[in-house]
Amino acid sequence: MKNNDFVSIQSQIAAGSLTASKLVSDYLSAIEATKNLNIYLAVFTEEAKQRAKELDEKFANDPSSMGRLYGMIISIKDVICYKDHQVTGGSKILAGFESLYTATALQRLLDEDVIVIGRVNCDEFAMGSANENSAYGPTINAVGENRVPGGSSGASAVSVQANTCLASLGSDTGGSVRQPAAFCGLVGMKPTYGRISRYGLLAYASSFDQIGTITHSVSDAALLLEIMAGPDEYDSTASQAVVEKYSDLATEIAPKKIAYFKSAMNHPSMDAEIRTASLDFLEKLKKDGHEVVDLDFKLLDYLIPAYYVLTTAEASTNLSRYDGVRFGYRSPEVADLQDTYKKSRTEGFGTEVKRRILLGTFVLSSGYYDAYYGKAQKVRRLITEKTNKIFQSFDYIVMPVTPTVAWKIGDKTADPIAAYLADIYTVQANMTGIPAIALPLGVNQENMPFGIQLMSNRNTEHDLLNFAKSLHL
Ligand code: GLN
Repeated sequence: MKNNDFVSIQSQIAAGSLTASKLVSDYLSAIEATKNLNIYLAVFTEEAKQRAKELDEKFANDPSSMGRLYGMIISIKDVICYKDHQVTGGSKILAGFESLYTATALQRLLDEDVIVIGRVNCDEFAMGSANENSAYGPTINAVGENRVPGGSSGASAVSVQANTCLASLGSDTGGSVRQPAAFCGLVGMKPTYGRISRYGLLAYASSFDQIGTITHSVSDAALLLEIMAGPDEYDSTASQAVVEKYSDLATEIAPKKIAYFKSAMNHPSMDAEIRTASLDFLEKLKKDGHEVVDLDFKLLDYLIPAYYVLTTAEASTNLSRYDGVRFGYRSPEVADLQDTYKKSRTEGFGTEVKRRILLGTFVLSSGYYDAYYGKAQKVRRLITEKTNKIFQSFDYIVMPVTPTVAWKIGDKTADPIAAYLADIYTVQANMTGIPAIALPLGVNQENMPFGIQLMSNRNTEHDLLNFAKSLHL
């Protein structure tokens, strides 16, 4: 049987028919068998085996001493720091760099006996929608046919999809957890901004970045979130809001008020099969007794331009730390300090990262700041106000996750704008800081998966997860 549900794994362990060691060894075989997909940048083979052995022994001695995640084997995106393990952000500029500390989110999982089986590929510094911007080559969607897995947490999604681990930690700045989850038929959860500490997460755009999960089930997303969430003395932007018992999921759901945007469903970029399936989904919600209302949302087409102005601006300052001086790659042949900066960055960063640093520097430069950065900030505020207003009357906003299914590798590389536009439905949650979850909705005629997205008001993850679970998708 496929062990893709943590509750079933736990009950098999309790019944004595499964151990962490057996799980690790099965996953290691799956990793070996899927090497062609280029999922892992590093597999922690010996360490995972050793930790599983120790945990199994601890369990044999005293089952009551186990953490809540005993039996949960995860992969981590290459932007999450794990002490004494390399972290490169999918970039050559950090090749060989070892984390000096562990990200708070990951530490909380380790404290509950999670096992990390390896570090997975991603778009360089989490910039991308297809996992094609990694310095370590593209990751391939396990559905086959040379399809991208989505990005930037593309390999996180494939690691779960290909059953090389049970869950993966990714990061979501503009959709990077939800979009690959949708392209791979999985659940992608991005919590409220600040719900999970960003300490130990390589920064891309700090006012957007959030750690999220890719799992097979809503219950696993809820459990991981419950353990990772909460204040952190190392991240002053981490929310002080009470962490609810997200993993206590209700079985009965009262009728809800649900909004959707016709402008989103009828957007010219929208694939016909995804549109039909999304509208059918809304019909089903109505039949199940929920109130479903179509709203006018005129700001849809402003989301992407504002998002790319703001995130590139933040990225241009965040990435200035990679200067070839303090850590990471340094060009071997340099004449002086200026040359060190220039050559190290020229050789260390990939094309997309350079494009964004240049764009971000431009929109922040004097003379252009007001026209671009300042304007985009205003758009962000407008979108946030409009979104907050919707939540005064509605419980959820339903959106597709993506306008299309996964494209073929190489199809959008010549046209970065086409890839940016594919983020149209995911960036609203990051622009406004609200939680959003991507759920698998179906497959198209070519058997390619796509998802549906639910968004809710800030800090209402428990309610969102309850509702998501009740849909049985
Ligand atoms: N595709 C978006 C971007 O390239 C989202 C990336 C992300 O969420 N990390 O910025």
